[in-house]
Amino acid sequence: MNHETVPLGKIIGLGRNYQKHADEMGVKAPATEPIFFLKPSSSFVPDGGTVIFPERVERLEHEVELAVVIGRTAKHVPVERAKDFILGYGVLLDMTARDLQDKAKHAGEPWTLSKGFDTFCPISNIVDKGKVSDPQSLELQLFVNGEMKQRGHTKDMIFPVAWTIAHLSNIMTLERGDVIATGTPEGVGAVKRGDHLEARIPGLVTLKVKVDAPSKRL
Ligand code: MG
Repeated sequence: MNHETVPLGKIIGLGRNYQKHADEMGVKAPATEPIFFLKPSSSFVPDGGTVIFPERVERLEHEVELAVVIGRTAKHVPVERAKDFILGYGVLLDMTARDLQDKAKHAGEPWTLSKGFDTFCPISNIVDKGKVSDPQSLELQLFVNGEMKQRGHTKDMIFPVAWTIAHLSNIMTLERGDVIATGTPEGVGAVKRGDHLEARIPGLVTLKVKVDAPSKRL
């Protein structure tokens, strides 16, 4: 499945869903419910595409995450039934303008600017959920120019996938094609223009994108 067969909708991103990532950021992990934010659907980039490094951004970072794609309308879904509403899984990069996010955090402002630029959500093809027996049993890997920078495991999520779907569906209706970015494990780091990024869930799916400067076209 790809973007044309499954039109993707809103992106709901979880913040600090892995303890070691919260630790590396020097922040507390959430205790009772996840921190989340929205990324616009205009931030999607398919496999083989390009992440544009905006001119105003000084530090752009990679965050490799399990993508959960919703298959049908979900509202007030109980945890036990949450997986019935999943279409499939993929791997995505929650690209983040860390300098802008740091400023926003200090000022108590939202993260939308730092998370929401066009091309800030590269996503792989979507694999049918039938190929994944347990979404909490997947390894996540991220390579920059062939060098491994992140390696984590979905068993370490603070809020697991089914719980998250149930919780979010009590706040906003989840629709077919919506994507949940389930948070990044530790090892986030900066990218530069010209870098080649490769995200993998070994044995399941791979995503390759390039980082480039904005084009000078008017
Ligand atoms: Mg993230």
